[in-house]
Amino acid sequence: MTFDHDLKASVRTIPDYPKPGIMFRDITTLLADARAFRRAVDELVHPWAGNKIDKVAGMEARGFILGGAVAHQLSAGFVPIRKKGKLPHTTVRIAYSLEYGIDEMEMHVDAVAPGERVILVDDLIATGGTAEGAVKLLRQIGANVMAACFIIDLPELGGAAKLRAMDVPVRTLMTFE
Ligand code: IMP
Repeated sequence: MTFDHDLKASVRTIPDYPKPGIMFRDITTLLADARAFRRAVDELVHPWAGNKIDKVAGMEARGFILGGAVAHQLSAGFVPIRKKGKLPHTTVRIAYSLEYGIDEMEMHVDAVAPGERVILVDDLIATGGTAEGAVKLLRQIGANVMAACFIIDLPELGGAAKLRAMDVPVRTLMTFE
């Protein structure tokens, strides 16, 4: 059995969560497995080892866990992208599409300096609506978005392709149909 198979096997699937018909990919089991967590973070940062990355931006909430570890590994700063109303200082805000309807996300206006090299991190990309919003927010304040990385890609939902069409290189570690 290869390690990559182990990594995929460490993700738990919960059928019918949060509603009937959805197969929820739960990474808490991967995070709780020391070897799998370390391997996932190592694999996510691999292409940028030795490159200068100024900031890692992580999306609430699982993107905070992974993004913090990735930032530490790359000796970069960490920037939280949060649901509206949670950040205390002046923010920039953008609406983004969810499966049903829209929501808004925010980032501190001074979290990234113009031209800084940023990597975006989240646990999973599905339709790409969340990541697309985050890229637009980062670009709005002048960030140079170098890449977006995710543990899981659901390719049938087209999110990774959507980001690549925005000239954002995408790294994912495994796919689920
Ligand atoms: P998207 O905006 O459609 O790409 O959805 C991605 C966002 O929804 C990410 O922030 C994910 O954390 C979350 N998400 C969607 N489906 C799942 C899942 O099956 N497991 C864990 N998170 C999910």
